[in-house]
Amino acid sequence: MDSLSMWEATAGKRKKRPTLVDDKHCDVVIIGGGFSGLSTSYHLQKMGHKTIVLEKDTVGYGASGRNGGELLTGYHGTMETFAQKKGFETAKLMWELSLDSIDLVENISKENGISCDLVRQGDIRPAYKVSHLDRFKRDQEYLAEKLNFHGVSIIERSEMKTELNTDFYHGARINERGAHFHPLKFALGLADAVEGLGGMIYENSEAVNIQRDSTSKVIITTPKGRVIANEVVIVTNAYAGNLNKTLEKSVIPVESIMIATEPLTEELMQELIPKNRAVSDSKNLLYYFRRTADNRMAFGGSGRAFGKRAQRMLFDNLREGMVTVFPQLKDAGIEYRWGGKVAFTQDFLPYIGQLEDGTHYAFGYCGKGAAMAVMAGKVLAETISHPDRVNNPLKKENLRPIPFHSQHSKGVGLMKFYMAFQDKYGK
Ligand SMILES: Cc1cc2nc3c(=O)[nH]c(=O)nc-3n(C[C@H](O)[C@H](O)[C@H](O)COP(=O)(O)OP(=O)(O)OC[C@H]3O[C@@H](n4cnc5c(N)ncnc54)[C@H](O)[C@@H]3O)c2cc1C
Repeated sequence: MDSLSMWEATAGKRKKRPTLVDDKHCDVVIIGGGFSGLSTSYHLQKMGHKTIVLEKDTVGYGASGRNGGELLTGYHGTMETFAQKKGFETAKLMWELSLDSIDLVENISKENGISCDLVRQGDIRPAYKVSHLDRFKRDQEYLAEKLNFHGVSIIERSEMKTELNTDFYHGARINERGAHFHPLKFALGLADAVEGLGGMIYENSEAVNIQRDSTSKVIITTPKGRVIANEVVIVTNAYAGNLNKTLEKSVIPVESIMIATEPLTEELMQELIPKNRAVSDSKNLLYYFRRTADNRMAFGGSGRAFGKRAQRMLFDNLREGMVTVFPQLKDAGIEYRWGGKVAFTQDFLPYIGQLEDGTHYAFGYCGKGAAMAVMAGKVLAETISHPDRVNNPLKKENLRPIPFHSQHSKGVGLMKFYMAFQDKYGK
């Protein structure tokens, strides 16, 4: 699903970056020019390491230039569950890392003068079912009592109109730390910042082969050149090809699609989402939406289709979903339709780690990577620069391919079918 995204159409003129030719040397070569890769490079350059980023297409071509731009806290699951699975101290660090990730995006934007329409008004998770609101309340109690975090509040259905002008939901959880931004403007600004620090970014430079020589140098081959480096980082996330089998078979790519309306009036947008928060609901096949700087509604949801006709139907269904949530938008024209791949892992947690051959990686943000991928880049840079000093709660040991990975496409289809059933008939 490669139609022009609204972000691409509104990001302004792109700087053309070179393609890699001949041999180049650096300390760390980074494969993937999304948030994870650019942030790894940015932080390594700041620590005095010479880096090269290789991007198969152009900066932000993957999920980083296509997402909803919602900067959200937390993970796919509750902190209480993570504390049970991973121990309380690890869960606490995970929570802090997720809060810090949004601060990190804001600080990078400020320090580098990246104008990416960042709005820090919090995020809201409306409850699709009454039982979801009960779950939010338990969550809020856990965060306050155990993690001493008091930035979450709950509103009942009767108060919903102060947040969202819709009857679709049964109340909501609000987190004051959330934000939203223009993701591609941020990616392009971060790329400029990397170059300002002396890092090199090569576009249209797909890494097609990785080898190690007898001196432990890593040699990355692209169609027209090579990079020779001390360390390699692979951050291709859901866009991983067959460059590294273990990484490719550890990630489950899932399609998500978005539509954006034509620019609407300030008054209407103010009426729909008065506090201009980032919204992502609690449906299993969720809707996520937000206002844009030019007063469009950007609305996302689940996507998966083969063939042009099926794709059109998915976008029509998404529009129908938008109008069900906000009947006020029934006459709003849709100007953009696009999609991208979200990376899931087997246990729905992001992984940051190192393969047995020394390759560093980070992936699998499960739809919550706009801020976390930027943080993962910082953690990777710190791990490479000061391996003994890093306390990384998302550290993955012994990454192994998912069994029957080749069947994942069927699995995702079945899972989505089950989720839709749960949304319709579950409690
Ligand atoms: C439609 C959509 C909506 C989303 N909405 C949100 C949201 O609102 N909030 C949120 O938190 N998260 C959201 N996400 C998820 C978020 O965008 C991702 O988690 C995040 O951008 C991941 O960044 P990344 O750098 O790891 O991966 P990517 O941005 O996908 O970057 C990987 C890059 O690697 C490149 N690549 C692949 N193979 C090679 C190779 N061999 N050589 C060189 N380059 C290669 C690709 O071209 C790509 O540019 C959304 C995702 C999608 C698709």
